[in-house]
Amino acid sequence: MERDSKGLAVVIRSERVRENDRMLTLFSVPLGITKVISYGARKSIKCVRASLYTEGVFSLSRSRSALWSLKDIDVISTHGYLLEDLGKNMAAALFSDMVISGRDAGPELYSLYTGALDLLEFYDAESVVISFIAHYLRLAGLSGDYERCPVCQRIYGEDEVLGFSDAEGVAVCSECDTMSGSLILPPNARRFLARTLSLDIRESMDLRISPEQRHRIFRYMLRSLSLSFPGRLGSLEHGIWELDR
Ligand SMILES: [Zn+2]
Repeated sequence: MERDSKGLAVVIRSERVRENDRMLTLFSVPLGITKVISYGARKSIKCVRASLYTEGVFSLSRSRSALWSLKDIDVISTHGYLLEDLGKNMAAALFSDMVISGRDAGPELYSLYTGALDLLEFYDAESVVISFIAHYLRLAGLSGDYERCPVCQRIYGEDEVLGFSDAEGVAVCSECDTMSGSLILPPNARRFLARTLSLDIRESMDLRISPEQRHRIFRYMLRSLSLSFPGRLGSLEHGIWELDR
């Protein structure tokens, strides 16, 4: 068992334990999703500050209890702007929830997650959330590509309105719809999502869309996520985003 580890990581959750210590959940390329104790100010131990969403090269050591503890960080970004804006903060909390519940910790998801945190500095939260969810669901094999029906494999018509299969948790053609048209995706929104998936998350920020249309697609993505995602997402259940409007 290795006693030390050093690698690229980002703090995706931070919880207080005891008076001065924090339990960090790190998303790290070499270690995947891992819990790390960060000791607070004490005489004997050097205090390293690792606030939520800090990305950097983390140095960890493992004690006999097999728990990693934080030794040092070469900080790349603190993503400090995320803590100053409620919408951006919620978006980042949702992304963390999805990563922690999803249990995938591959390098592709790491770059999607940290890319999304970076984009939240410059773009509105709704655009970043739409693209993150679309890319995440495809990466996890939980959605179609919005080009053809994942159930019957038929290629969608240019002006086709999509339905949803709650059994499969995916957007489908109108014939495969199992929700009686209660979760539909209009043609222009479908084309927007197909284009989003043909680009990486950074490139997809340049797609043109009106704020009203963006908001409708944002609500659609949150609702479809709640039906597609296998685990519970606390940030959706208790967050500021009400799904039914
Ligand atoms: Zn179909």
